[in-house]
Amino acid sequence: MTETAVIIRSNGAILVPTDATLDVDGLPQSATGQTALLTGINAPKVVGRHVTAYPTTTLKAILTESNIFRQVMDRDGSVALANAYTPEYFSAVEVGRLRHGAVTFSALSAGVPLRTPKDLGEGRAVFHDLTNAQPRAWGYEVPKISPEQAGRNLAGIASEHHLTVFEFFLSDLAAHGRVPMAPVTVVEMIDQCLSGIIGAGKWDEMLMVLVSDHGNIEDGRRDIHTRNPVPTLLVGNGRDRVAENIAAITDVTPAIIEWLASEA
Ligand SMILES: [Zn+2]
Repeated sequence: MTETAVIIRSNGAILVPTDATLDVDGLPQSATGQTALLTGINAPKVVGRHVTAYPTTTLKAILTESNIFRQVMDRDGSVALANAYTPEYFSAVEVGRLRHGAVTFSALSAGVPLRTPKDLGEGRAVFHDLTNAQPRAWGYEVPKISPEQAGRNLAGIASEHHLTVFEFFLSDLAAHGRVPMAPVTVVEMIDQCLSGIIGAGKWDEMLMVLVSDHGNIEDGRRDIHTRNPVPTLLVGNGRDRVAENIAAITDVTPAIIEWLASEA
C-alpha cells in the first residue's frame, strides 16, 4: 500500500484503500484477484503468480471449496448473483469461445441459479452494461434503463437475500481500450448506479460493499493494470465494523461473513 492511502469517511460512506498485490510481484490480475476476493484465500501466493482472465484448475478447486456463496449457504444464508446471462453466453462457453470467470464459476459450483433475459425484463436481474443496450442490440425485448434504475433493481434484489453479488467489468475493458467507451463515461455510469442503489437501499439493515480485483482505470497514463490499492466503498449498517477488518482484498469475504454472523 502506498503511504498516501488513507481511509476516507464522508456522508455515511467509508472508502478503504485495499491492497490487491497480496505480496506477490507483478501486476495483479483477474483470475487470482477474483479468487482472493471471493474466498479470502491468497490465491496468487498459492499459485506463485498473478493469473490473468479465467481461473485455472487450482483456482477452480479453491473457488469450489471456499467461494463466498458457498460460505453463506453453509451458514443457511440465501444468496444471489444479480447478473443476467443469455443463452448465447452458454453456447459460447460450450464451444470454447468463452470461459466462465471466477464469479460465474463460483455461483455455478455452489448451485446458485443464474438469472435469465426473462428476469432482466422483469427487473429481477441486471445486465453487466447496466442499461440493457447490449441485450437489446442482440434482439432481446428488455427495457432500456438508466444506470440509476439498474442500481434500484440491484437494491431490490439485495433486499431479498443475505448476500447479493453483482459483477461489473466495463471499467476494466474501457481502461484497456477494449470497448468504445471513455473511462470517464464508465465512472459516471458507476456513480449513477450507486446513486440508484443508495437511494433505494434500507441502510439500517443493509450493507453495500463495492470493491475491485485490481487497479487499472484510475491511471489513464497506461492501459494496463496497476499495483495501486483498490477502493473498498462501504455504505450502510456495519460499515465501521467491516472497514476495520479490511486491509487487503483477501479480507473482504471474511469481513462480510463476520458481519453476516454478527447480524444473524
Ligand atoms: Zn484487465
